Order: sequence, then C-alpha cells, then structure tokens
Amino acid sequence: MTRFDRQSFLGADSESRLYAATLGLVGLGGGGSHIVQQTGHLGIGGYVVVDPDHITETNTNRLIGGALADLKAVTTKVAIAERLIRGLQEHPRIIPVHDTWHNATGELKRCDIIVGAVDSFKEREQLERFARRHLIPYIDIGMDVHDLGDKTYLIGGQVILSMPGKACIRCCGLITEERLTLEANKYGAAGSRPQVVWSNGALASAAVGLIAQLLTPWFKEPPEFVYLDYDGNRGTLVPNDRMELLRNKICPHHPPEETGDPLFDVREFNRLTADLALRKGKLASTPAPTSFWKKPLAVIAKFLGL
Ligand SMILES: [Zn+2]
Repeated sequence: MTRFDRQSFLGADSESRLYAATLGLVGLGGGGSHIVQQTGHLGIGGYVVVDPDHITETNTNRLIGGALADLKAVTTKVAIAERLIRGLQEHPRIIPVHDTWHNATGELKRCDIIVGAVDSFKEREQLERFARRHLIPYIDIGMDVHDLGDKTYLIGGQVILSMPGKACIRCCGLITEERLTLEANKYGAAGSRPQVVWSNGALASAAVGLIAQLLTPWFKEPPEFVYLDYDGNRGTLVPNDRMELLRNKICPHHPPEETGDPLFDVREFNRLTADLALRKGKLASTPAPTSFWKKPLAVIAKFLGL
C-alpha cells in the first residue's frame, strides 16, 4: 500500500510520471493556490511557481495555504506555495520566482505544462504565445462576476487547454481586440475584481484533471483542445458550444514560424547550452563561469537536483 494506491487506476507508472513532471504555475492567487495544493497531493514532483505579490488581507477569503499569521509576516505567495508543496511531498523540486513571469522565462520553458491563473487578458495572451513558442501545453483558468442588475450577480468562468497548432484562447473568443482595448483603458483604475473560493476551486479542479489526463496513461488519447464553461449560479461545468466546432480548427493567430522557436533569445540559448553541458558532465572541462553565469548555473543545478 502506498500513499498513491487509490489513484493507481491512472496507470502502472503514473506515480513516477507525475513525480518526474514539472509544472509551471503563473499566478498563485485564488485559482493558482488551489492548483498548488491539488498537484501537491496528486504527486507532481517539479514546480516553477511564479507570482510577484505577497499575501494581503483581501486575499484571505480564498488563498489556499495562506494563514492569518502570514499577513503580519508579509509572506510572499511563492513562499506560501512552496510551504504547501513541502507539506505534502518529501522531495519536491521547486523553483520559486517572486517576480513577474516575464523574468522567469528560462525556468518556465523547461516545464511540461504551464498553467496561467492570472487576471489580465493581455498577460494571458502573452503567456499562451510564450507556451506555444516552446511547444508546451497551456491551461488557462479564469472567473468573473457579472452584474446583471437589480442586485443579481452571475459567476462565470472557463478552463481552456491550448496546444500548439490547435485552437487558441483568441479562437475561443476569450481574447478580443475589444477586451484588450477596454482593459488597457481601464488599467490602474479598474479596482479589484470579485473572487470567491469555491468557484476558483471548481475551475482549478478541472484544470488539475486535464493535467492528469496529459501526464498519465489514464487517457489513451489525451485531449488536444478543451474549452469548458463554468456557470457558478447553476453549478455547472460543461463543454462550451464552440468546443466541437473548434476541435480541428487550424489557429490563424499563431503562425507556424512563431512556434517551436526556442532560440529567440540568444542569452537563453546560451543557458540551454550550459544546461546540456551539465547533463553530459562536461562542465568540468569548460572554463569557470563568470559571475554573470553563476546565478543561472546554480538555478539549473538546483533544478536538476545536482
Ligand atoms: Zn487562434
């Protein structure tokens, strides 16, 4: 009997596959913190957790793993995520990045799956573009509360699995020029959007289900495109009407020349070369790293468990 006995139906080698996988998680707030908790339980071994913020009082209605004592200590969200994972696993591989994900691209491009649980449409589109460039499956979760008037509110949300070459979040209609313009005009004046713990949990759970489908032998043919709609008032999470229509659509928004090109940043290319040298054990014959290289090499070495 092992701790994963009751999920052994996921496949004979699912435990080792999950432990070997590395998840990139951008945004550790209401949605992302649920994913940290669940993937920690599930047995995923590697994490690149990214968030520039620390916990605040208004987070405490939904930030999984965050405690009231963290308010006084001004604990960062990455520290809370790391604590949560370490409480569930003996030897996790964690790279916490207390910064925007734009400063974590070197770490994120080594991930097997990237999950975006961020607020802005602009950021989601950028993150999806980045994931496609590196041929990494991207899962997007998001929720919103719509004011229907007369003090009536509708909780809505979506979970989208976006794979290189397949329909993207623009194909889904989640990203539109109108929304991007509206968001840009409101920037800095929009205030906090409503968020609640159970809706975040429903969306995050669906995302973790997709992660399990992609990483384990549970699904013989893992999905290549998923678009689920959440209606928090009805309590339903169902395939969006467009999911079937978009299933075989060739995405026009991300041209082939933009995908699978990991060399667009020459500095990152050099880091990748250093990574390969480390793997092959050739580093000893190369010149000692300059101070410029010390930090990235240390991060890579930590990541590889060396
Ligand atoms: Zn598209």
